[in-house]
Amino acid sequence: MHIILKKPKTSTCTCPFAHERFVVCKHMVGLYFTAFPEEVDHLLEEAKREEQRQEKEYQQHLKEIRSYVNSLKKAELQQQLYEALMELEQRDTYW
Ligand SMILES: [Zn+2]
Repeated sequence: MHIILKKPKTSTCTCPFAHERFVVCKHMVGLYFTAFPEEVDHLLEEAKREEQRQEKEYQQHLKEIRSYVNSLKKAELQQQLYEALMELEQRDTYW
């Protein structure tokens, strides 16, 4: 097995998945993290940051929905509620 860092897909491995194909297999990934163990921490930190970013974005989205609902007048609320209920009604019928 041989990994080429600058062009990972040109790495080679004799396993059936990667044999004579331009792909990255689990063995190449394993070799990479064995050679560069500190990259494991970087990857985990990055994943954690991304997760936090998405959670923050989702909370912001919920806030926007709340302020949208708060901005509606009674007649608009009635119309929106009616449409939402009709949508649920159709889901129950067709799903
Ligand atoms: Zn392999």
